[in-house]
Amino acid sequence: MQIQVSLTLDVNANASLTQMEEQVKEAGHRWMRQALKEVVGQWEQAHRSCRACGSTQVRTEGTVGRNIQTLFGPVYLARRRFRCQQCGQRCCPSNGLLSHVHLSRVTEPLREAAMMAGASWPYRQAAGCLKRLTGAQISAEAIRLLTNAEGKAAAHRQAEHTASSSPNLRPVSQPQPMSAV
Ligand SMILES: [Zn+2]
Repeated sequence: MQIQVSLTLDVNANASLTQMEEQVKEAGHRWMRQALKEVVGQWEQAHRSCRACGSTQVRTEGTVGRNIQTLFGPVYLARRRFRCQQCGQRCCPSNGLLSHVHLSRVTEPLREAAMMAGASWPYRQAAGCLKRLTGAQISAEAIRLLTNAEGKAAAHRQAEHTASSSPNLRPVSQPQPMSAV
């Protein structure tokens, strides 16, 4: 797969180095968002076949929009929907590509960055820092949800590790008195 996304930048002749850097950074983020759209489009063309019967005799039948949040900002994907000419099934191949986004929209690289920022700063400040440093637009609430989910997953892994490494010390849940509920 090969894509080409051009980048044009208008810079004021009297701009300071700081202004130049800021404009180049923003243009770079715009370029990244556009490049991701193009790459997903190319990927869809490369996976132009029926999920049900495997036939490559498919016809594009509209698009299904999806907004995702990436490390370089929000990206709207107009995902192609195909209809099989053999069996009549409709499918959206990019469903598979997007099956691992978090909170229905956050990509894995952004989740990782959000976890790092969330561990270092209060959530609102973490969201501001991410936006300033990378262009990512993620809310403080989303960072909180991702951090909490990771905390639960880590506790679960720890409990499983403890249970499997020392079977005699398997944690037993204590019966709770009704008044404690
Ligand atoms: Zn088919």
